[in-house]
Amino acid sequence: MRMTRREKTATTTVHHRHAQVRSNRRNRQRRLELFEFLFCHRRKNIYIFVMIIQENVPMSEHTSFKVGGPARYFIKTESTDDIKEAFQFANERALPTFILGKGTNLLVSDNGYNGVIIQLGKFFSEITNIGNGKICAKGATPLARLARYTINEGLAGIHKLAGIPGSLGGAIYMNAGAYGQDVSQTCIEVETIDNAGNVRTRTAAECAFDYRHSIFQELAASRESSETILSATFQLTPATDLGKTAKDLESEMQECMTKRRNSQPLSMPNAGSTFKRLDAGAIATPTQIAPGYYIEQAGLKGFRIGGAEVSRVHANFIVNADHATAADIKALSEHVQKAVTEKFGINLHREVILLGEF
Ligand SMILES: Cc1cc2nc3c(=O)[nH]c(=O)nc-3n(C[C@H](O)[C@H](O)[C@H](O)COP(=O)(O)OP(=O)(O)OC[C@H]3O[C@@H](n4cnc5c(N)ncnc54)[C@H](O)[C@@H]3O)c2cc1C
Repeated sequence: MRMTRREKTATTTVHHRHAQVRSNRRNRQRRLELFEFLFCHRRKNIYIFVMIIQENVPMSEHTSFKVGGPARYFIKTESTDDIKEAFQFANERALPTFILGKGTNLLVSDNGYNGVIIQLGKFFSEITNIGNGKICAKGATPLARLARYTINEGLAGIHKLAGIPGSLGGAIYMNAGAYGQDVSQTCIEVETIDNAGNVRTRTAAECAFDYRHSIFQELAASRESSETILSATFQLTPATDLGKTAKDLESEMQECMTKRRNSQPLSMPNAGSTFKRLDAGAIATPTQIAPGYYIEQAGLKGFRIGGAEVSRVHANFIVNADHATAADIKALSEHVQKAVTEKFGINLHREVILLGEF
């Protein structure tokens, strides 16, 4: 484990590098407690921040599938300076980097990730009401928290997304959506930092949003140009302009939550929809654009490989039913793709992102 300690006063920033400490699970926990303590500790005008670089962190602890081997390095960042340092750390070792949100759309290899995982920490979880229906939230803000905040503010536009379990950064990256709303409909700008430490603001048009797509996916594919999402601003509509109240928005949100609870296997580890919706242009009815329809018609509900199972509740979900490995989940998703293509001539495209060597 490495630690970078930074003491901040109103005017100065002091960096100290500390020697590497070998980590086991227990002392990692102690370091995290120390981190929490220092993070919250305030003496006069002095705040003390510690950026901890952990080694061999099991990704099963950071993904909703609860699978995945160790990340070689794992860094939680609390400022843009931390992010720059994290990229520098990776560059010095010629290691790849991966920005982790809440790991709810991610399948990490059983062999882990031979690179540096960078996650935005608590200081990147913040919401500001700018006024005139504009809300800005930082990248690590849980999308659910943001959606509920907008409801309390009486603003419509992302209130139906409260059941999506990821971070705002992950939602922008994926253009997450549900029940007729997605983030692209109301997002007006996104602030990012690139690997060289340059901060920029992209307009929504520059984000090239499409169904479960944003430019950030293309940028991430190239190590040099990937961008970390720091914050996003939304232009929402006052409920009153729609002839509604905040209570109405709350009811609409609760209705979506109930639909989720009744149709998704929320008691088992999963990563949401395995496959993307099919192209509506080519196919007629809403049922027919749902991958789950074809998976179910192919008789695959409940089908298992190892500990991975095609959910009996929702066929487009793969669940970790019994100590599944990442290899089980990947093999099952490939089996489903093959079976659906053979039976219906339809190609299913994976929504869940793979990380590491499979
Ligand atoms: C039970 C369940 C229900 C779900 N329902 C829905 C749904 O209704 N609709 C939907 O769209 N999705 C759904 N999902 C999938 C998932 O929650 C979303 O895709 C979510 O937006 C992913 O966010 P995350 O923070 O977990 O991202 P991660 O899974 O951690 O990462 C996803 C991608 O985003 C990138 N990323 C994350 N944060 C940043 C950042 N700050 N900067 C740059 N890149 C970043 C990562 O590098 C990665 O490539 C569901 C998942 C589960 C488990």
